[in-house]
Amino acid sequence: MTNEVPADQVLENNLEQDPEGGSLFLQIFVSMAAGVALGLLLGSRPTVLGIQTSGLLQFCQTASKLVLQLLAALATPLILVAVSHVLMTSDIKGRQAGRLVWLLISNTLTAIFIGLVVMNVFQPGRFAKLPEPNMSKSDLPTVGVLDQMLNNIPKSLLGPLGDSNNVLGTIVIAVAFGIAMREHRDKLETLLETSLKVILRVIGWVIQLVPLAVFLTITNVVGKEGFEPFVALGGFTVTVLVGLMLQVAYYMTRIRINSWPRPGEVIRAMRDALVMAFSTGSSTVTMPVTFRCLRQKLGLREQSASMGALVGANFNNDGTALYEAMAALFISQMLGRQLDLGQQLLVVITSVVASVGAAGIPRAGLVTMTLVFRAVNLPPEYITILFAVDWFLDRCRTMVNVLGDVTVSCILDGRESEKAEQIRLAQVLEFPPV
Ligand code: ASP
Repeated sequence: MTNEVPADQVLENNLEQDPEGGSLFLQIFVSMAAGVALGLLLGSRPTVLGIQTSGLLQFCQTASKLVLQLLAALATPLILVAVSHVLMTSDIKGRQAGRLVWLLISNTLTAIFIGLVVMNVFQPGRFAKLPEPNMSKSDLPTVGVLDQMLNNIPKSLLGPLGDSNNVLGTIVIAVAFGIAMREHRDKLETLLETSLKVILRVIGWVIQLVPLAVFLTITNVVGKEGFEPFVALGGFTVTVLVGLMLQVAYYMTRIRINSWPRPGEVIRAMRDALVMAFSTGSSTVTMPVTFRCLRQKLGLREQSASMGALVGANFNNDGTALYEAMAALFISQMLGRQLDLGQQLLVVITSVVASVGAAGIPRAGLVTMTLVFRAVNLPPEYITILFAVDWFLDRCRTMVNVLGDVTVSCILDGRESEKAEQIRLAQVLEFPPV
């Protein structure tokens, strides 16, 4: 894709600074710590100051949902405006679109490969002693991935915008309108650019409330779930964490080789989005913050940030893919079944599909995991065993999902930053080669 936006305008957009500075990360971090402390206190007693703790925890849950709901509501207009703007102003080349698809597939396959290798090496399922689950009933809703995909085709033009989880439907609309608007670029460009700035400003306002929402969410989960289950499922938890860390190392290596920012710079610029992914467990809710950090803190081109963090993000859930493959192997180890190479290949294929089908919301991966289990004849009921640690591992894999989108954006941005490119072009104009 070649950006045709006038150079001075691009540079001006690029230099736009983050108005809130760098303190959000710290605020969220302090809120998480305070949430853990209060959650442990509330979880350990039935009443506090004469008030039922269950009621207090319920209040925390409801109040935190409101803020996160606001952010999720902003994700769809952001996608609509940013993606149609990019498509209207860019010269899309098939080779570049193919590059995006290749990046998404190669990252997801690497994640699953890492997950399977780590699980085969550590084999935590051999040591875990867990009670047999109740096989007669399952708490899990089952999903048909095809049905889920078809549901994303918009039933009405405004439908996907109203339903903040239907980001794929919004992309369908944004792509169609973005291409159609190319003919009227001169009239529509300023309108879309201004709309994008306005949406980012509103996102900035809602972000101010995020530390409070984080405090309330963490208080609620720690108060209700506590930390005890980690001892029982410790081996599994540690093995998944090792897998996720190896995936992060892979991302950093790819960024180092294929993109202009240094890995440390990327992590620093993205830390607001990463702590937010951890504290909300939702990559869709985090999406507006991810986009904003990529543009305003890291300084990627709008086109790369939109393609990686808004379009690619919906198909790119590497953390979820890695987790689903590892979970299937873990349960089979506990059952004393050894999945052969053919079955592990089935796990790979179904984990790719299941991770693409997983929405960017908390615990979505647990639901699509039924697909992987069915493919290799594991009873989906056993997934309930993972519930106890899933609230924590979900947050960790959501961070990896977000970092995957960031990696794709960085690689799409190439080895030369927009700023360096502008300076180089300006020099060429000043001293044209003879
Ligand atoms: N919570 C994850 C996300 O939002 C999805 C999942 O794996 O459950 O990206």
